[in-house]
Amino acid sequence: MRKKILIANWKMNSNLTDSQDFGFKLKNYSKEISSVDIAVCPPDVYLLTLVNIFKESNVLVGTQNMYHKEEGAFTGEISPKMVKDINAQIVILGHSERRQYFKETDGEINLKLKAALKHNLIPVFCVGEDLETREKGKAPEWVKNQVLEGLKDINSSDAEKIIIAYEPIWAIGTGKICSGEDANKIIKMIRGTIKEKYSEKVSDKVRILYGGSIKSDNFSEHIKYDDIDGGLVGGASLKYDEFTKIINLAANIKNTKVNA
Ligand code: PEP
Repeated sequence: MRKKILIANWKMNSNLTDSQDFGFKLKNYSKEISSVDIAVCPPDVYLLTLVNIFKESNVLVGTQNMYHKEEGAFTGEISPKMVKDINAQIVILGHSERRQYFKETDGEINLKLKAALKHNLIPVFCVGEDLETREKGKAPEWVKNQVLEGLKDINSSDAEKIIIAYEPIWAIGTGKICSGEDANKIIKMIRGTIKEKYSEKVSDKVRILYGGSIKSDNFSEHIKYDDIDGGLVGGASLKYDEFTKIINLAANIKNTKVNA
């Protein structure tokens, strides 16, 4: 049984005061939640503050990106060793905004995944198609290729530690939601790809999330599917009440999941 996880991606938002307020409230709330994992990925300047707030809690803290090298003359970058050094545990990699605005390639994302695994960080590996690809009916092959390129030369014991987030680009920050049924189809395909490449054991372990305009009033449509193990939440994760409502949906779904 895979444990569901909700991950907040604050992107380049929030400030020190709001991050702290959110952190203290979420820490308190998380004491009541054991059936779902929770993670918060703030901008890097607030990372250590949140790591300290969530110390001795079950909330994971992580970064939204990192470089694959350990140190050196790479101005503006942070390394896996640094993320680990401050006791952050998780890292979002290959987010579509990184791919689109910072021209990250599948090859670079593969290097970053390997670097995260080497440093015992949990990678959240993002994949997803744009609108044009979806409208041409090519989303499954596009996403499958991203998955396989990202996982190149990663062995099965490492692969099972990776969290994959399926995030159709056209649904990110747009308010357009990919239906639970459509998201489930692609997520099932991703699980099948993992099974083909590795084994059923690995594909049963890998958590695969949906991401794209998740809100408390639409997420029950996604989380009801057996194969959808949680969500990567952008805009809605900045509001404490909204994010905790979304976590509650996942925590309360339990035995009613749909195997479609
Ligand atoms: C994201 O940033 O990964 C995301 C899914 O954003 P939003 O929830 O705002 O669409």
